[in-house]
Amino acid sequence: MRSPLIAGNWKMFKGVADAIAFAKEFRTLARDFTEIEVVIAPPFTAVHAVADALRNSGIATAGQDCYWEKDGAFTGAVSAVMLKEAGAELVILGHSERRRVFGDTDADVTRKVHAAYAAGLAPIACIGETLEEREGGRTLEVLDTQLKAAIDGVSTEQFATMVVAYEPVWAIGTGRHATPEQAQEAHAHIRGRLRAWLGGEPADHCQILYGGSVKPDNARAILQQPDVDGALVGGASLDPRGFYAIAEAAAR
Ligand code: PEP
Repeated sequence: MRSPLIAGNWKMFKGVADAIAFAKEFRTLARDFTEIEVVIAPPFTAVHAVADALRNSGIATAGQDCYWEKDGAFTGAVSAVMLKEAGAELVILGHSERRRVFGDTDADVTRKVHAAYAAGLAPIACIGETLEEREGGRTLEVLDTQLKAAIDGVSTEQFATMVVAYEPVWAIGTGRHATPEQAQEAHAHIRGRLRAWLGGEPADHCQILYGGSVKPDNARAILQQPDVDGALVGGASLDPRGFYAIAEAAAR
C-alpha cells in the first residue's frame, strides 16, 4: 500500500562535481530498483546538476529547505519556485538543523509547506523531539505540535503528496539511533494523529520516514517496523555504496 522511500540529505556537503559523480554512480547501482522510491537532497548549488544527472532514472531530487516568498529582496534565500525550476520534486522542511541553527519556527514551517505546494513541490516535513524533551516525557506532545504546524491548512488533496519524517534530534548525526521499538512507537503515534485529524485514508497512505543515524547495519531492523515506511539518511547518504545498501535493505 505504501512503497518504501529512502531519502538522502547531504546537508552542506558536496560541490557540483562530487554531486554529479555520486548521482552517476548511484543511478547505475540502483538501476534495478522498482519497488522503492529514492530521493536525494543536495545543497542548493547542486540541485540542478543532480536533477540533470538523475533524469529518467526514477530517482527524485529534493531541496533541503526553501523560503516562503516566491522572489524579492531576501538575500541568501532560495524559493520553492526556484527549486522546482532547478529540477527538484520535493523539499525537506522543518529539519532540526534548520530549527536549531537558523531559528526556523513551527509557523515558518507552515508557511514553507504552503509555498512548496504552490510551487508544485512535495514537502518532506521533519518533526522530532530533543533529548531533554524525551527525558521530560514530552515526546508525543512535541510531535503533535510540530505535526499540526506541518499540516495546518493543508487540504486532503495536497496532503496526499506529503512525506513526514520522524527525526529524534538526539539521534541526528550522533551515531545513536532510536531503537526499532522507539521508532515504531513514535510512527504509530504520528499515524494515529493523522488518522484522527485527516481521516483513515490519508493516514494509511502517508509515508512516514525515520531519520537519525541510519546506517547500512541498522537500517533493516528499523525499516521492518510496520509504521516505518522508509528513512531520511544524513551522514550515510554521502557514500553511494552505503546509501545503496540502505536502499537495498528497504527494498527487501
Ligand atoms: C538528517 O540529517 O536528517 C539525519 C538523519 O542525519 P544522520 O543520518 O547523519 O543522523
